[in-house]
Amino acid sequence: MKSWRELNSYKKMQVFLAEKSGFCFGVKRAVRLAIQASKMAKQVYTIGPLIHNPQYVEYLQKQGIFPIQSVNDVESGVVVLRSHGVSPDTYIQAKKKGLEVVDATCPNVKRVQALARELKGEGYQVVIVGERRHPEVRSIANDLQDDVLIIGEVDDLRGDGLSKRIGVIAQTTQDLGCFRDICHQLLGLVREMKVYNTICKASYERQVSTIKLAQKTDLLLIVGGRNSANTSRLFRIASKINPNTYHIESKKDIDTSWLSGKERVGISSGASTPSFIIEDIVEYLRGIEPY
Ligand code: SF4
Repeated sequence: MKSWRELNSYKKMQVFLAEKSGFCFGVKRAVRLAIQASKMAKQVYTIGPLIHNPQYVEYLQKQGIFPIQSVNDVESGVVVLRSHGVSPDTYIQAKKKGLEVVDATCPNVKRVQALARELKGEGYQVVIVGERRHPEVRSIANDLQDDVLIIGEVDDLRGDGLSKRIGVIAQTTQDLGCFRDICHQLLGLVREMKVYNTICKASYERQVSTIKLAQKTDLLLIVGGRNSANTSRLFRIASKINPNTYHIESKKDIDTSWLSGKERVGISSGASTPSFIIEDIVEYLRGIEPY
C-alpha cells in the first residue's frame, strides 16, 4: 500500500492513483521545446500531433502549435520533431525547404535508433518488437531503408524471413512480458541473437504501477488518448488482471453504473496524458455518491 497515494476516501469509495503515471520525461521535454518555440516564432508546427492526446493537442493549438501531416504542408516556420522521432529523410527535407527544425526526439528513442544502426552495421538482421505503424517504429525502419523485421506479438512469429543472426530491439513503450515472450520464441529459431532491452524506464514503471493497481482495485480507469499506443497497452495489460478496467479519455467517458458497489477505484494513465485530465477525473469521482 505504501507505493500508492490515497487521494480520496469518500464514504465507501476510495480512489487511488498509480504511483507512476502521466507525462514522461520525453513528453515533458517535447512540450517544453514546442512552447519555447511558439514564444519565439509565429508559425510552429509538429509533424503529426505532438503527443497522442486530443485534449492536449487542442491546448497546444491555443498556444499556436499546429499539427501537420508532413513537411510538404508548410513553406515556412518552425517544425518541431516530436518525441517519437522521424526518419532522416524528413529532417533533410525540412532543412532543404529552409524550415527551422527543433528536434524534440526523446533521447531514449535516439538511443534505439543508434542501436538499430549499430546492429545492422555488425551484420545482424534487425528485429523490432513493436507496432508496425507506430511513428517510432517507422522512424527506425525508415532509417534502415526498411531492411528490418517488425514483430508485434508472439502469434506473428512463424520464422519466415528470419536470418540466422538477429539483433533484437523493442519499441520504447513495449510491454515487457510481450518482449520477453517474443525473445524466448526467437531463441529457438536462430543461431545467434543479440538483444537490447530498449523499453524505456518511464514505460516500464507505468506498466508496473498499473499492474499493482489492477490487482488491488475493483475498478480501474486507464486514462489517455485512444490513439495513444502506450495508454492502450496499459489498458490491455490491466484488463488481463482486472476485467473491470476501462480506457477513457476524460470524465465524460465514465459511466456511473461502473461505480456501482465499487469500493476501490484506481486511476492510471499513459505517458501522454496531461495531469489536468487526471485531476478533473479525481474531482468528478469525489463528487459522486456511491451506490
Ligand atoms: S515513453 Fe519513454 S521513450 Fe517515449 S517519450 Fe517517454 S521517456 Fe521517451
